[in-house]
Amino acid sequence: MADHLYGFDTLCLHAGHIPDAATGARALPIYQTTSFVFDSADHAASLFNLQTFGNVYSRISNPTVAALEERVAALEGGRAGLAAATGMAAQMTALLTLCRAGDHLVASRTLYGGTYSQFAVTFAQFGIDVTFVDPDDPENFRRARKGNTKALYAETIGNPQLNIADLDALATIAHDAGIPLVIDNTLASPYLCRPIEHGADIVVHSLTKYLGGHGTTMGGILVESGKFPWDNGNFPQMTEPSRGYHGVRFYETFGDFGFTMKARMETMRTLGPTLSPLSAFLLLQGIETLHVRMPRHCESTLAIAQHLSEHPQIAWVNYPLLSGNRYEALARKYLPSGASGILTFGVKGGAEAGVRFIESVQMLSHLANVGDAKSLVIHPASTTHRQLSEDEQRAAGVLPEMIRLSVGLESLSDILWDLDQALNNSQ
Ligand SMILES: *Cc1c(COP(=O)(O)O)cnc(C)c1O
Repeated sequence: MADHLYGFDTLCLHAGHIPDAATGARALPIYQTTSFVFDSADHAASLFNLQTFGNVYSRISNPTVAALEERVAALEGGRAGLAAATGMAAQMTALLTLCRAGDHLVASRTLYGGTYSQFAVTFAQFGIDVTFVDPDDPENFRRARKGNTKALYAETIGNPQLNIADLDALATIAHDAGIPLVIDNTLASPYLCRPIEHGADIVVHSLTKYLGGHGTTMGGILVESGKFPWDNGNFPQMTEPSRGYHGVRFYETFGDFGFTMKARMETMRTLGPTLSPLSAFLLLQGIETLHVRMPRHCESTLAIAQHLSEHPQIAWVNYPLLSGNRYEALARKYLPSGASGILTFGVKGGAEAGVRFIESVQMLSHLANVGDAKSLVIHPASTTHRQLSEDEQRAAGVLPEMIRLSVGLESLSDILWDLDQALNNSQ
């Protein structure tokens, strides 16, 4: 049935894996091994020369991890993927494959806090300069681009601002400049948005969030579209003999998965932030129900956003699909089946009311994560952003009274009950 195109739901369960030929096991085996035996000295040599595909050492590739890579690449409509130990490691691996010291990136200024620090502090120490721009006008990316710019970077849904990127416009600007568009699709997941269909060239994920979906396992991945023309003159490292791997010319040798091969054989092999086979197995368990979980996350979140927007103790509610939200039109275009499971709201009474609200919740878990099957809540001003002054918090989009809620899969009536009783106690 090679010519049959499977639906998204089927791919969540089957892509990248067939039952084990040796044992008949239906579930994916956890290949908990560091290394793989060679058939012969010639076989070993051809593996090291990349003339034969196969496994050598689990820092580079592993069959359990490979099933995860193929599955997420299929869900994103991409050509190939490379998993990493965390979301931070995946985006680092993607960007360090594109950039070297002296290069430049243009990124949205509304990014996940850890990503902002990775770019602004760590990459600066590597000699990679990042310009942050207001993503609401995509032309800001064009204006900030320089001769040494190697990629544009944004999040489909910004965390925690919940702004929506205009992917089509960003892809046009990137391609006019002959550089790839890299999109962090963590908060949307491929169930809600497939950025490659809108022109993205590389998609990165924190698998820790919705794809794993149960708050048990860290992981990340990069997926390449297979469509970027790496021989356009801007990426000599893709076309010239590799100093890092036996003089291989990655684009000429591997074509539409050349970027992933370079990321694997140079960046991942030498820096080493590899995903473990056990983690890949756990993340795949989560992905098997992505298509069942995401609609419920979206449905409950919209209902909660509507409930809170009429609540007397609430100052404001931010959810992209709430009518009147400034990103509603972009959300309807890029997230037609839902705007994911995260919303933010302001409790009347400022920072103290926010803290009292958090201290009053009973079922919701107070912690720093999103995308779990369980409902999670945090008051950024007193936790993730507490080291900043109030002015710095406002610049980062964090208001003193702001609460971030990651809506889980519990009974909607119970989530609403807990929110209401905690709001009553916050005043
Ligand atoms: C959590 C997150 C990351 C980082 O992922 P880790 O798995 O925690 O390293 C990157 N981007 C976004 C949007 C995130 O929410």
